[in-house]
Amino acid sequence: MKTQVLPITPESVALAAKLLQQGELVALPTETVYGIAADARNGAAVAKIFVAKGRPQDNPLILHIPDASWLARYCKDVPETAYRLAGRFWPGPLTMILPKADCVPLVTTGGLDTVGMRCPDHAVTRAIIAAAGVPVAAPSANTSGRPSCTTAAHVREDMDGRIDGVVDGGPCRVGVESTIIDLTCTPLRLLRPGGLPLEELRAVLGEVAVDKAVTQQMA
Ligand code: AMP
Ligand code: MG
Repeated sequence: MKTQVLPITPESVALAAKLLQQGELVALPTETVYGIAADARNGAAVAKIFVAKGRPQDNPLILHIPDASWLARYCKDVPETAYRLAGRFWPGPLTMILPKADCVPLVTTGGLDTVGMRCPDHAVTRAIIAAAGVPVAAPSANTSGRPSCTTAAHVREDMDGRIDGVVDGGPCRVGVESTIIDLTCTPLRLLRPGGLPLEELRAVLGEVAVDKAVTQQMA
């Protein structure tokens, strides 16, 4: 397979959207790191992400959507808190864990009945997702175990021949992964520190527990 580099043009947006609709893999820029995107509802397309990255299949993927109005399509029982957080921090480096809707296949969530949801702060990527009309699963565009890529050139070095295209949106502004908060438990819980500081979440939510795995990692 030849990996096409797509510059930021309206033609590229249309082509990337078409490739995604056809179940192909396209690396997309976000504010955190580049992601390898595939139609998250298409189990066969998602399976190709795991192969391209060499990622263990029980490692769940995050769904990327262009705005909070898509939450109800892919999640069940969306709490008011999710919309409040989206209003405050989306688009941005915040992933929310919510109960998944039936249309999200288990291959995407690593077998879990919950799903991570995020709206990336990159206008071109949001335009591509909106044009495709499908949510995209988009883990970092690197071979598992290697550093996450923050430029299209790095993506190409690592993934050349394993994905159909990479949209060159320039270097990523944040450069670290999204912060993940689990909204399915009480109290709400931080699962991964990232681009959005915990203090900012606490300022909006009050109490937020920190997962044991995170505390151990910080220590
Ligand atoms: P990334 O590799 O940055 O795409 O983020 C994927 C990570 O998000 C996974 O390795 C998990 O740690 C976390 N994650 C994704 N979905 C879920 C979920 N449904 N429940 C808990 N953690 C999740
Ligand atoms: Mg990664």
